[in-house]
Amino acid sequence: MGRYSVKRYKTKRRTRDLDLILNDLSSPDSIQKLKQQPEDENLPGLGQYYCIHCAKYFLDNTALKGHLRGKVHKRRVKELSVNPYTNLESEAATGTNLEKFMEKVAKYKADEGPRREMEHGMLKDQTEEYDLRDRKKWEELYPEKVLEEAQKAAEAAATKERKALAAEEETNIVTDDEIIME
Ligand SMILES: [Zn+2]
Repeated sequence: MGRYSVKRYKTKRRTRDLDLILNDLSSPDSIQKLKQQPEDENLPGLGQYYCIHCAKYFLDNTALKGHLRGKVHKRRVKELSVNPYTNLESEAATGTNLEKFMEKVAKYKADEGPRREMEHGMLKDQTEEYDLRDRKKWEELYPEKVLEEAQKAAEAAATKERKALAAEEETNIVTDDEIIME
């Protein structure tokens, strides 16, 4: 019974509010902190694969990559780009004067360009960074497998070289035959 209620709580958990997500995306520090979180065994994928826009953890990098290409994520990105305007509009509707409202819109527009560029710069290689980070962790965990990989690569390279030499020799033999035949 106890376990069941915990599970229910987790799935019914409210998703993060759009205003909070906009705040998450507002500064390089905040984005960096969310992009590289400490491992937490209570979170999917130990909390290592996070989509900031959707405030969602994924089990692994492949799942996150699929999500970032998908409809749900794209819809959320669009929602977030519209949200500040709707906020300003509702503020205006509650009686703030029009001039103040226009000022706020102009300020938002001026700030949003550079902010978006910063966000793009910080997140465009997110999954590539996770791939590198995961590889590094794997190497630290399994040094013997790294060694094995290196040995296999060296063997493959040696085999390739032997084959190339053999092919070259064969070509030489053919050439010799041709010479003899002439
Ligand atoms: Zn997302």
